[in-house]
Amino acid sequence: MGHPNRRAGNAWGRQFIAFTIAAAVMVGTLLALLAVDRLEGRRHQLALRASTFSQMIVIRERLDRALAVPMQRTRGMMAQIVAHGDVTPDEFDRIAAVLLAGHRHIRNMTLSRGTVIALSYPLAGNEAVIGVDYRDRPSQWPAVERAIRDHGPILSGPVDLIQGGHGLIGRAPVFLPDAIGGEPRLFGVISVVVDFEGVLSDAGLLSPELPIRLAIRGRDGLGAAGGMVWGDEAVFAAAPVESDLILPFGSWRLAAVPRQGWNAIDAERDLVRVLGLGLWLCVAAAAFGAARYMRDRWQAELALIDSEGRFRDFACATSDWFFELDAELRFSYFSPSTERVVGLDPSPWLGKRRDELPVRDPNAPEWRRHLQDIAEHKPIHNFEFTMTAPHGVVRSLRISALPIFDADGSFRGYRGAGSDVTAERIHQAEIGRLQSRLKNILCNAGEGICGLDRDGHVIFANAAAERLTGWSESDLLGTVFTDLIRPAAEADAVQAVLRQQGEHRGEGVPFRRRDGGTVPVDFVVDTLIEGGPQGERGVAGAVIVFQDVSARLAAEAELRRLHMAIEQSPVTVIVTDPQGNIQYVNPAFSRVTGYQAGEAIGGNPRLVKSGHQPPEFYAELWRVIRQGHGWDGELCNKRKDGTLFWEKAWITPVFDADGAIVNFIGVKEDITRRKEIEEELRRTSAELARSNVELEQFAAIASHDLREPLRMVSAYLQLLQRRYGSQLDAQADEFIAFAVDGANRMDKLISGLLTYSRVGTRGIPFQPLDMEQVLADATANLRATIDQSGAQVSHEPLPSLAGDPSQLVSLLQNLIANAIKYAAPATPPIIHVGAQRGDGEWIFSVHDNGIGIAPEFFDRIFVIFQRLHTRQECDGSGIGLAVCKRIVERHHGRIWVESTEGRGSTFFFTLPAEG
Ligand code: ADP
Repeated sequence: MGHPNRRAGNAWGRQFIAFTIAAAVMVGTLLALLAVDRLEGRRHQLALRASTFSQMIVIRERLDRALAVPMQRTRGMMAQIVAHGDVTPDEFDRIAAVLLAGHRHIRNMTLSRGTVIALSYPLAGNEAVIGVDYRDRPSQWPAVERAIRDHGPILSGPVDLIQGGHGLIGRAPVFLPDAIGGEPRLFGVISVVVDFEGVLSDAGLLSPELPIRLAIRGRDGLGAAGGMVWGDEAVFAAAPVESDLILPFGSWRLAAVPRQGWNAIDAERDLVRVLGLGLWLCVAAAAFGAARYMRDRWQAELALIDSEGRFRDFACATSDWFFELDAELRFSYFSPSTERVVGLDPSPWLGKRRDELPVRDPNAPEWRRHLQDIAEHKPIHNFEFTMTAPHGVVRSLRISALPIFDADGSFRGYRGAGSDVTAERIHQAEIGRLQSRLKNILCNAGEGICGLDRDGHVIFANAAAERLTGWSESDLLGTVFTDLIRPAAEADAVQAVLRQQGEHRGEGVPFRRRDGGTVPVDFVVDTLIEGGPQGERGVAGAVIVFQDVSARLAAEAELRRLHMAIEQSPVTVIVTDPQGNIQYVNPAFSRVTGYQAGEAIGGNPRLVKSGHQPPEFYAELWRVIRQGHGWDGELCNKRKDGTLFWEKAWITPVFDADGAIVNFIGVKEDITRRKEIEEELRRTSAELARSNVELEQFAAIASHDLREPLRMVSAYLQLLQRRYGSQLDAQADEFIAFAVDGANRMDKLISGLLTYSRVGTRGIPFQPLDMEQVLADATANLRATIDQSGAQVSHEPLPSLAGDPSQLVSLLQNLIANAIKYAAPATPPIIHVGAQRGDGEWIFSVHDNGIGIAPEFFDRIFVIFQRLHTRQECDGSGIGLAVCKRIVERHHGRIWVESTEGRGSTFFFTLPAEG
């Protein structure tokens, strides 16, 4: 027994020979059949030619008959003319009638005298030809001339006849012999006109059943050299059978081919061919059948020879091993591959029972069941177990085995195969670990991730997908994902990707949530492609990754709102780059400056510089903002039309994440109008101050100058009383007393006015002072009044501040005096002076328990000469509080009263705190 592969080679060689012989038989048979077919073809062609030729000869004979006879008839007429030297019309008619009788296709016979046609038989229908001179007929004259020149008859035509239709014309010139033996003299020309179509019809050429196609050459009787007389000229080029028709005045060449052509299908031949093909197929089938039979036999033989060797080769080369158990389930055979595959020498196990194998878990239910199965002689299929071999080596093995039975059905053992799946198991465990790690990553990803099958059903959803949609993974599994996508167009786009493969992205697309709402997401869907069994590639599914962009959309909306706000703001906004190049201006900028955004962007804010501020001003501004600080101030700028305007500007740097300046933002308010009002106010205040000073000066001078005459009036009235008091009556004394009292009151008023005016003019510069001391001085000045009224004056600790000491003493003095003066009847006055710290100022209060003031008079009492009481009720001039107000205002404070009638009053005034 040789090497199996070599044997296989021999067998292949033998098979090859068998099939080669079969093929040779087929080719040989085919060639023989083709040779027979060719011979048959040739025979057929010859037969066809012979039959075509005989058909043509029949036609030729008919034509001959139809043409030759009438043509010869001219001779009778010619004989008559030559015999008598002329012919009369009657004779011509009579002779012609005899000559032409029985020839239905002869249209007429004519006779010309010289070249002019003189007679015609029959005349009826041919009158038109009488008197015609052949020389005037270019179509006929050449033939006539030829006949005359050659002194012999000719055939012309077919030609268009003068009388209409087609005709063949036989022309015979008639010469009369010369009496004195000279040249014969031309008498005329006899013409016989034959109806061409009639001749053709009689010859059978026009019959549709004619089995041949016939063509005739030889116009004017010129034979093969002449033009076509009838039929298709192409027939002459189609290998026709040919023959000449000799006519009285010339000849025609006839050519014919079978109507269907030379290669027309021959049913008989086709039948032979079909039979031949059938025969050939039978031979081929027989040859190949024999070859196959031989091949199968050889293959069976080969299989038989090789099966043992193959089994041994497999057993050696395989990555499996084979074993046998005997009827007692003891190992009786291990294939040689066992040690290599399992990595252990199996020989110690020979003779051991299967249940003695050192499996890792002998009590595991699967192992127990397996032992049970083999005890019951069941087939084992892919059973896996783990074995602890010596040195602690752990092996995962998978076996399949079949029970073997004798012919009589008694159990003989098992025969089986096994493979080592340790690496596979380790690999699987590794894959499992990787899978769970991957799943972990997917589950913990911030983006929602869903796996889809090719129909778009969800087959995986991570935690973020659950969070974003509100559905749990188990809710999502099996649903069609595109149902979650709100806009139909987007859902369709995802479906399209699943059908055609590729990628699709969506931005801000609303996804449906379980709670009925939507969440806007950015998503990308990408198909997974897998190869098919034929290597074709198709969509296996897709992964869709999506993230919630509601925060971003909200931020964008906010940004849009802010943009709108800036665009519509009445305040100018300018954004520049760090170099000061303008990147943005809002519409207010254009409104204020007259420059359009297009003119400003890319330029520099110095566009609106007026030159009002010195260069150092701008240098300082840039220094401040470049250092990262904000700047604010007022700028006088210039509009496009050259007019100036004022702006209050706030310029702020904008930083990036690294703290670098990326922009400057200037916000500017047009304050031109405010500036104008301020200027107006400043001018008015200056004017007011000037007129106040003038008024004070006038009041001071006036009161001073008024007091002088008043004192004179008062002094002289008192002198009058002293000197003449006894001579006047009591009423005169009373009158004098009134006058003196009036003068005194006027003096008081003037002195009050003087005091009032001096608050502005005679004040001394502010100096630091202690308000406790001021209060002490005021109460000391009022000591007598206080004692007299039994008033109690208390106070809180009072602060130190800057002011005019004598004015502040009179301020407190006035307020305390009023508190005593306007005390409630029969109630000793209780007066309290307080001080509270306010915002940058001190708020002083002088509280009393007097009669109080009605609210409607709160403002009036601070106006000069305004009193609430008559002089009879309470003495006073109405100047005290007016003076207080001027003193407080000179100290940049305010004064007001709070009071409830009958329950006392509190006068408040403020003074600026020091520092
Ligand atoms: P005169 O006290 O000289 O009348 P003032 O200017 O000091 O002028 O006061 C104006 C008016 O305010 C007084 O006439 C009085 O009616 C009212 N008045 C001032 N102080 C008090 C007070 N402490 N209690 C009630 N009324 C007062």
